[in-house]
Amino acid sequence: MAAPETHRLTRQIVIAMLAGIALGVALNRFGAGPWLQTFLVDGLLHVIGSVFVSALKMMVVPLVFVSLVVGVTALSDLKALGRIGAKALGLYLATTAIAVTIALSLASLVGPGHGFDAGETAASFSGKDAPPLSQVLIDMVPTNPVAAMAEGNMLQIIVFALLFGVAVTMSGARGKHVLNLFNDLDAVIMHMVEWIMRLAPYGVFALITRTFASQGLDILLPLAAYFLTLTAALAIQLFGTYPLLLRLLGSLNPLTFLKKMRDPAAFAFSTASSGATIPVTLHTVEKKMGVQKSVASFSVPLGATINMDGTAMMQGVATVFIANVYGIDLTLTDYLLVVLTATLASIGTAAIPAVGLVTLTMVLSQVGLPVEGIALIIGVDRLLDMMRTVTNVTGDCAVSCIVAKSENAFDQAVFDDPDAGSVEDATRHALPSQPAS
Ligand code: ASP
Repeated sequence: MAAPETHRLTRQIVIAMLAGIALGVALNRFGAGPWLQTFLVDGLLHVIGSVFVSALKMMVVPLVFVSLVVGVTALSDLKALGRIGAKALGLYLATTAIAVTIALSLASLVGPGHGFDAGETAASFSGKDAPPLSQVLIDMVPTNPVAAMAEGNMLQIIVFALLFGVAVTMSGARGKHVLNLFNDLDAVIMHMVEWIMRLAPYGVFALITRTFASQGLDILLPLAAYFLTLTAALAIQLFGTYPLLLRLLGSLNPLTFLKKMRDPAAFAFSTASSGATIPVTLHTVEKKMGVQKSVASFSVPLGATINMDGTAMMQGVATVFIANVYGIDLTLTDYLLVVLTATLASIGTAAIPAVGLVTLTMVLSQVGLPVEGIALIIGVDRLLDMMRTVTNVTGDCAVSCIVAKSENAFDQAVFDDPDAGSVEDATRHALPSQPAS
């Protein structure tokens, strides 16, 4: 049976989320008053939440670089690297295409947006251009790896780390020295990640309270059909598609997987950023789910960057919603175009809050819908962003498990152990032993 101690942190994070929602909604409904607003919402909670997100982001670049170098050197040959890359990429594209197809089908069934009064929302949106795919490919090779790290350009960091890792393997005894250093660095950085995870209840509480205090739930009402259709689509992907794929392609127990997803899901929900969640995703996939570093160190940062199933679903439902509001009929070709564009659009965009709206511009213009339509859904986007980021991150973890299983780079005993990778345990074991008195 699970020791209660090892699940304490997850329980605390869940309680922090629920308490944050309750307090945030109450503050919004009854009004925070100038004092509470200044000192609590815009003061204390703002500082705690921002410091928490910054601390997470602080770990992303060193963690991805170091663990990817270590991961690549653990591979037996270069062919394995190519295979893992091809499988991960293929599954990421496939899950996104499935996701947007589910979203489009559900949205055409429900028909959100019929009879919607566009005058109800006053927000405006001016589109930004997403980069074309060719530019994304060119930009993958950094001209300066230090600049890539300074800017947190994930694809460039991945490319440099892969090449560096291969060179370490091929450099004989000298490479071994470098590898030893990177192995030690990896352990130290993971230790820092675990510190941040222990602070999660406070960070999550601050972020969520503040979001709900400023959002309230009233804005959902006029857009309830859009909101609920997308929520249902995301739930189908989370509790239908991924479990099915895990069972069929990986012979893995979906329930165990979903239970282990609680920590990264809470981080994704409160930060609305797959990028900021990378440290927790990587920790979970490696230490709790049993995916070996050779796969996880590559599939997780790659997934956080290019795999955005929830975002693609939002684009599918939003396209149908906007078409309905403007009374424009979508043809079958339009639907196929949406699937294609939404799938490809997720590759070239950063894993940060609200970026899905930018790529939605691309999808809408592909099918000839007015980009200004985005203004209609902007009001509820923050909440949906939190939910779709959970889906995005869950997709990354599911694909990582499936690829690792197929590559024999998977530790089933870790996956089956409900207490594996517990931060409480890790920190306790890491404490220096007391000198004998
Ligand atoms: N916030 C999402 C993510 O980081 C992207 C988006 O849908 O806007 O995964």
